[in-house]
Amino acid sequence: LTERLQNAFSGLRRKGKINENDIREAMREVRLALLEADVNFDVVKDFVKTVRTQALGKEVLESLTPAQQVIKIVHDELVKVMGEAAVPLNKSPHIPTIIMMVGLQGAGKTTTAGKLANRLKKQEHARPLMIAADVYRPAAVDQLVTVGQQLDVPVFEMGTDHDPVDIVKQGLAEADKNKNDYVIIDTAGRLEIDEQLMDELARIKALAQPNEILLVVDAMTGQVATQVADGFNQQLDVTGVILTKLDGDTRGGAALSIRAVTGKPIKFIGQGEKLDQLDVFYPDRMADRILGMGDMMSLIEKAQQDYDTDQAEKMAQKIQENSFDFNDFVDQMSQLQNMGPLDEIMKMIPGMANNPALKNVKMDPKDIDHLKAIVYSMTPKERENPDLLNPSRRRRIAAGSGRNVQEVNRMIKQFKQSREMMTKMSKGNFSGMEGMLGD
Ligand code: GDP
Ligand code: MG
Repeated sequence: LTERLQNAFSGLRRKGKINENDIREAMREVRLALLEADVNFDVVKDFVKTVRTQALGKEVLESLTPAQQVIKIVHDELVKVMGEAAVPLNKSPHIPTIIMMVGLQGAGKTTTAGKLANRLKKQEHARPLMIAADVYRPAAVDQLVTVGQQLDVPVFEMGTDHDPVDIVKQGLAEADKNKNDYVIIDTAGRLEIDEQLMDELARIKALAQPNEILLVVDAMTGQVATQVADGFNQQLDVTGVILTKLDGDTRGGAALSIRAVTGKPIKFIGQGEKLDQLDVFYPDRMADRILGMGDMMSLIEKAQQDYDTDQAEKMAQKIQENSFDFNDFVDQMSQLQNMGPLDEIMKMIPGMANNPALKNVKMDPKDIDHLKAIVYSMTPKERENPDLLNPSRRRRIAAGSGRNVQEVNRMIKQFKQSREMMTKMSKGNFSGMEGMLGD
């Protein structure tokens, strides 16, 4: 989706002034991009219509930076479709707050129940109790028990020989007794929506009167995710949605449709199998991500925690002046090294998220040490001016750093390429970003 959208805008970017036809052309591309990303047909239709109307307005056509304006319109409309702001969990005025997880088999209910418990425990020092109410597969109970053990969160279970409604009833009594502040009910799923399942879930709902019925949906299932969400919502009137498996190649098609079709907010997103990989859903961040601006906010937040901002500004300055040299390169690499898993960080950088060159890259911290060794074997002059590096100097550097010449050559080539790319980016190939992030 991201790539297609970027293509749609690159046509506009190349032009200074644009006319109605250019906009219609770009909107056709946007439409195709969304449909290909499995966004629901009606949602796409409305979306494109709204954006087109706004983009054809005078301000855009007469603006000096029309492409940016159009992208901003698309961005803002994406945010609107996804619900504007993050929606917090509903809380009960008295304990316990009861949360019921529903969804198809394999959607991620059990894992997400654990993730939620973990989050509540960490953020609110809460004392949640999880109830194992999926009695159709013995493994399902064990799975929740295991998750509970990992998190040190109690799990109420009665095996698989009881009616789930009865299990929930006794589980709630247990929570009362222990004064748990949250109860998270893990329920059964099916491969598709059927009457028996819905009936069971409706009975659990009637008994437990949950404050939240969170529908867990697998984002990778595209269109199906939206249908499923619609189905569950019609039967159970869910209070929110959790989109799982957004860590894969999925680029948010489901995120766009679900809110529009069900009217229910996406509250969290699952971004990995680990129990701490649950994040609050921010529509604006998702819009950034869909537009391929990387997860800018997350990156900025991360950077604020770990990164020296003065340093970063100096760096940006240098990039713009094209005086970025090997010394800066090493500085930057060292900073990156301190920030965490490199491949994850790289993906958050605008323009990198969808960079095919990065797709299969696993960055190894050792590689950075090798790069550093190579740079340290250069003379100060060489570090400042990569053009000095003729073959004989390269051989000397290779010998000095204990790496081979090919590696030195490759590193220099990469350095030059990335410097070129950074300079391009800073000169407005990716313009449009600043304006959009500013507000
Ligand atoms: P349930 O049948 O709905 O209870 O689904 P499970 O919780 O058992 O999850 C099914 C599979 O999806 C498991 O292998 C989970 O590890 C995996 N899974 C759940 N959430 C995520 C996620 O956000 N990202 C990834 N990559 N895997 C997930
Ligand atoms: Mg399960």
